[in-house]
Amino acid sequence: MSDQKTALIISAHAADFVWRCGGAIALHQKLGYQVTVACLSYGERGESARLWKEGKTLDQVKSIRRTEAENAAKALNVHDIQFLDLGDYPLDLGRESQDRVVDIIRAVQPSFMMSHSQYDPYNTDHMRTTDFALTCRMIAQAWGHNPGEKVLGAPQLYLFEPHQTEQMGWKPDTFLDITEVWDNKRAAIECMEGQQHLWDYYTNVAQNRGNHFRRNSGGMSGGRAAQYAEGFQSVFPRTVDEL
Ligand SMILES: [Zn+2]
Repeated sequence: MSDQKTALIISAHAADFVWRCGGAIALHQKLGYQVTVACLSYGERGESARLWKEGKTLDQVKSIRRTEAENAAKALNVHDIQFLDLGDYPLDLGRESQDRVVDIIRAVQPSFMMSHSQYDPYNTDHMRTTDFALTCRMIAQAWGHNPGEKVLGAPQLYLFEPHQTEQMGWKPDTFLDITEVWDNKRAAIECMEGQQHLWDYYTNVAQNRGNHFRRNSGGMSGGRAAQYAEGFQSVFPRTVDEL
């Protein structure tokens, strides 16, 4: 039995983990966690507009998106990145995909998990991924599923920040200071050459969440001087001995 701390990110498309939790990944790698990223698809049809406009084929788009995601993962020091190639718009989240993700969850035994907001009318791949992640987490906890394997405990599922926060009904309850790994996150963002229109947008998001970190950690009365942060909404209650 290993006491290695681990985390698992379930990302609908190849780039989602970069914008939404790249800082959390880089920070936890620095803290000694092994962070695994499972990309359910390359986002080849729905999140690669620039490449299609350039006349690339489906295989070329997938290959370019994979390389970008691998480069971003390197910038974040990701322990392991897996591509399930389930197609996008829409994802194929059938039984076979489910079994594969349950196997990943049981192999990783994450201390915490991350995925998308629970509602996303702009991108149903995202909200279906979260529902799928919850289903796979539940199956991984079932003693009757592949008996003999190590059963999953109860890792928190953190929902990372979606693109249009209010429309998704997403409300953060956790801010993570990512200032010390901001350079890694920005480097990972710049690996996403097909989505340059988002680089500054997500830099601004991190700065705004840095402001919220400062305010909620004490503001003018001793708040931490975070410059960049990421927000998360947790699904499950915390179990504590002290408040
Ligand atoms: Zn996406």
